[in-house]
Amino acid sequence: MSVREFVVLGTASQVPTRHRNHNGYLLRWDGEGILFDPGEGTQRQMLHAGVAAHDINRICVTHFHGDHSLGLAGVIQRINLDGVPHPVTAHYPASGQKFFDRLRYATAYRETVRLAEEPVAADGTLARAASYVLDARRLSHPVESFGYRLTEPDGRRMVPRLLARHGIKGPDVGRIQREGRLDGITLEEVSEPKPGQRFAFVMDTRLCEGVDALAEGCDMLVIESTFLDEDAALATDHGHLTAGQAGRVARDAGVRHLVLTHFSQRYTDPSAFERQARAAGFEGELTVAADLVRIPLPKRA
Ligand SMILES: [Zn+2]
Repeated sequence: MSVREFVVLGTASQVPTRHRNHNGYLLRWDGEGILFDPGEGTQRQMLHAGVAAHDINRICVTHFHGDHSLGLAGVIQRINLDGVPHPVTAHYPASGQKFFDRLRYATAYRETVRLAEEPVAADGTLARAASYVLDARRLSHPVESFGYRLTEPDGRRMVPRLLARHGIKGPDVGRIQREGRLDGITLEEVSEPKPGQRFAFVMDTRLCEGVDALAEGCDMLVIESTFLDEDAALATDHGHLTAGQAGRVARDAGVRHLVLTHFSQRYTDPSAFERQARAAGFEGELTVAADLVRIPLPKRA
C-alpha cells in the first residue's frame, strides 16, 4: 500500500516562535521522502515527527533565506552520521551554490553518503521517478526562488465489473494491464482513466506566472501565506503572498486540498488565514498548517 502524506516540521517565516519552528516539510510519496526547505531546527523536528534521516531521498530548497535552508547543515550531517544507504539528491537555485557549499561543509564531519548536487537554473523537469515527474518553476522574491511540483503520470484503473463481463480473471488481469490487450480485448474495455496525482510546493513569492503554473489542477497545494490581506502592500514589497491571494490562486487552479503555511510572527490567530482564504472563494479542503501535523494527500478523484 503506497503512502502519500505531507509531514509538517515547521511553519514559521523568518524567525521561530514558541509555537512554530522555522519551515521544514517532508513529503512521503510511496517509498520516497522529499524534504522541502529545511530551516533551523529541522533535525530536532524530524525526531518529534517520527521522520528519520533514512526517510530522505531528495531535498528541494526553494531559496537561500535562512528560514528555508539553515537546517541543511544539520540534516546533511545527520544523513551522513546515520550512514543512509541510498544516494540523496539536492535541488536548489543554482545562483545560491556558494550558500549550499557553505551549509554542506559548515563544520567538520565524515562524508559517508553520496549527495548529488543538482542545482536549478531554469524552469523545467528535474527528475523522472517511477511514480512522479519533478518540475521547477521560477517564482518572484528578492532572492532567486523556485517552486516545485510533482506530477504522477495518468494511468488506468481496472474495473471489476468490466473484467467480469469479458471473463478476465487471475493472472490474466496482470497480463492485460502490462500488455494493453488480451485475446482481442483491449485494456480500455476493462478499465477507466485514473488521473495522476499532483502536488506543488510554492514558497516565498509574490503573485506571478510561476505560482499559477505550479498550482494548476493540484490535489494538494502547499503555499506560503506570510501575511493577512490587510498587509497586502507589505507582502508585495517583501515578495510574499497574503492568505486571500493564496486562496484565490487555489480557487482558480481547482486545487482540492490547500495547505497554508509560512506565517509571520506578527499574527496570533491562525484562523484568520483560513477565513481570508475562504473569503477569496476557495471551497476545497483547507489546512492552516501547524508544526508536526501530518496531512494525507486527498484520495484520487
Ligand atoms: Zn521564508
